[in-house]
Amino acid sequence: MPPVPEPWSTAARELLPALRSWRKSFHEEPELSTQEHLTQAKVTRALTELGIPYRAYDGFTGVVGLIGDGRPGPVVALRADMDGLPVTEETGLPFRSRFPGRMHACGHDVHMTSLLGAAALLSRRANALGGPVKLLFQPAEEEGSVGGALPLIERGCLERPHVAFVVGQHVDPSLPLGRIGWRVGPFMAAADFFRIVVRGRGGHAATPHQGPDAIVIASEIVVGLQALVSRVRNPFDPVVVSVGSVHGGTRDNILPEKVVLEGTVRTMRPETRDLMERSLRRRVRAIAASLGATVRIEYRRGYPSLVNDPDATRTVADALRVEFGRANVVETEHALMGAEDFARYLERVPGTFLRLGVGRAGHPASLHSATFAPDERALVVGSATLAAAAVGLQRAGRARAAG
Ligand SMILES: [Zn+2]
Ligand SMILES: [Zn+2]
Repeated sequence: MPPVPEPWSTAARELLPALRSWRKSFHEEPELSTQEHLTQAKVTRALTELGIPYRAYDGFTGVVGLIGDGRPGPVVALRADMDGLPVTEETGLPFRSRFPGRMHACGHDVHMTSLLGAAALLSRRANALGGPVKLLFQPAEEEGSVGGALPLIERGCLERPHVAFVVGQHVDPSLPLGRIGWRVGPFMAAADFFRIVVRGRGGHAATPHQGPDAIVIASEIVVGLQALVSRVRNPFDPVVVSVGSVHGGTRDNILPEKVVLEGTVRTMRPETRDLMERSLRRRVRAIAASLGATVRIEYRRGYPSLVNDPDATRTVADALRVEFGRANVVETEHALMGAEDFARYLERVPGTFLRLGVGRAGHPASLHSATFAPDERALVVGSATLAAAAVGLQRAGRARAAG
C-alpha cells in the first residue's frame, strides 16, 4: 500500500503566496478574447518555472502543458479560459486592472491561477500520477461564436497523447466560498443569435396607412417570439428567447423604413435547438407577411449546450467529497442558461464542468459586473479541486481498465 498522501488542499494552502501573485498579475492586465498575448507569456513563464513542458502557438494565444508524459494510464485534461471583458473595473482592489475598459470580470484570472496551482501540485507528485495530465489554457471563451476551444481542439489539444477525460470549472458567486457545485447531464445552454431586419415603408407619422409600419411590425415580432417559448417548446425543457436590441427611427414624426432586432435563443437539447430555429424563422416570416412587410433573418449558432458525462461527473464528485467533505460538494439545483465553450470538449471527450464557490457575505456582485471580486481563498479550493478531479478520474479509469 502506498502511503496516504496529505489532502491536496493542505499543499495548496502552502502555495497561496504564489497563487496570489499569479492571480494579481493576471488581474492587473486583462486582455480581450484572442488578444491574450501578455497572458500567454505569463502562463508559459509560470510553466517554465514549474519545470512543466508546454506547447505555445504562433498567432494563437493558447498554451497546452503536459505533466507525466509517458506515464501509463488515462490522460486527463484540465482547462482554464484566459480572456477578460470590456468592463471598467470598479472594485477598488489594490491590484485592479491597469488597462482602462478591460477587466477580469468573469473570473478567468482565478481559473488560470487555479490551473497553475493544480499543475504545481500534480507535478510535485508526478511519479504517483495514474497517467499524464494535460493543461489547457484556452483563449477567447467570451467571444461567443467560434470561441477558443474549437481552435485549440483543431490544433490537436485532445490528441498526442489522446485525452480520455476533461475537467473545467467556473467561479460562481452564488455558491459560498469552499463549496463546489456539480451536475450530471445538460448543465449549460446552447446560445444562438438572430438578427431580423424588418422593412416597411418610411413616411410621415401622420399618414401610417400609406405603407407597412416597420416599428409596429417589429413590435409584433418581439411579442410574437415569446409565444415560441410559451407555446412551441415543451414546458419541461428550458428555453429562453430574448431580444436585446431594437433599432429603428430617428424622431417622433417620421416612420422609419426599417427596424433591426437582435437577440439570443438559449436551449438545452439539440432537437429543441433545431425546433426553435425553425419556429422562429416561420413565425417571423408569418407575422411580417401578414402585415405586408418584408424581413431578412440571420440566424447564427454559437456554443452548443454543455452536457456533463454522468460517470465522470460522479467520479469527480466522489473524489471531491473525500477532499473537501460531503457538505461542501453540492449538486446544483438546476442547469444554467448561460453558455460556455467548454461544451466543445465535452462533445468529443467525457468529462465534467464544475462550479467553484467564490461567494462572500455582503458582496453580492455577479459575473461580468464592474464590482465582481471573488474571495481569494477560492484559489486554494480551485487548485485542489482540479488536482483531486484529475487523480480521481485516473484512479477510476485504471480500475475500470483492470476490470
Ligand atoms: Zn463570462
Ligand atoms: Zn467565464
